[in-house]
Amino acid sequence: MKHGKTACEWCLTECDNDHLQCKKCGGPITVLEPWVLQCGWCSSSNRRDLTTNCNSCGGELPHIPGTPRLPEPPVAPRFLAPGYENRIRYWKNPSFLVGAIFCIFLFPGLCVWPMLIFPLIGLFILRWSIKKSNHKLNALKSGVPTRGIILDVFIDMNQHINNRNPVRIDYEFDTPDGNYTDYVNVWDETNLRRPAGEHLWIVFNPKNPAENNIWPPLS
Ligand SMILES: [Zn+2]
Ligand SMILES: [Zn+2]
Repeated sequence: MKHGKTACEWCLTECDNDHLQCKKCGGPITVLEPWVLQCGWCSSSNRRDLTTNCNSCGGELPHIPGTPRLPEPPVAPRFLAPGYENRIRYWKNPSFLVGAIFCIFLFPGLCVWPMLIFPLIGLFILRWSIKKSNHKLNALKSGVPTRGIILDVFIDMNQHINNRNPVRIDYEFDTPDGNYTDYVNVWDETNLRRPAGEHLWIVFNPKNPAENNIWPPLS
């Protein structure tokens, strides 16, 4: 895990990364050491202290942990980094791949009828999976921006994917009907440096807040 070293821009007191303001004078925190963050659109690593957009796909990068959130997201309909949509729908979508594998049993199922149960299950999984990725993509493309607050960031020991545990980020955001709480699993462990109380942008569908995503997405 890479950590940045930070200090106050005004009085140069060295501060902890998880402070949003200087503990001595309240000044803004500046990063002394390089921050490497993964792009939420394509997972490439970037020196976030040198660039605001990914060197690989051009997508907007997340803000450095412990610093104020970015300016408001662009106006909808938003442009998503190239290749992102297909990764979310298919290649980086485990439920889509599982559904597709179940559907392959359609062919033996045509000869051995009881096996038709597998493609049927496959179709259900595919339908659910497409709906889920549409929610995410719709929120990113045309969701309404609102303030989100991180509630907790921790390694989720209950989930293992390829022998790794994801970092789980619990967050809540304002909606016309009150606060809505959700979470996201990410892999970039730099996100563990994001303190509870840190502000983010959430883009969401006011008619269905379950359609929401952090803007820009985290990796
Ligand atoms: Zn200071
Ligand atoms: Zn990228």
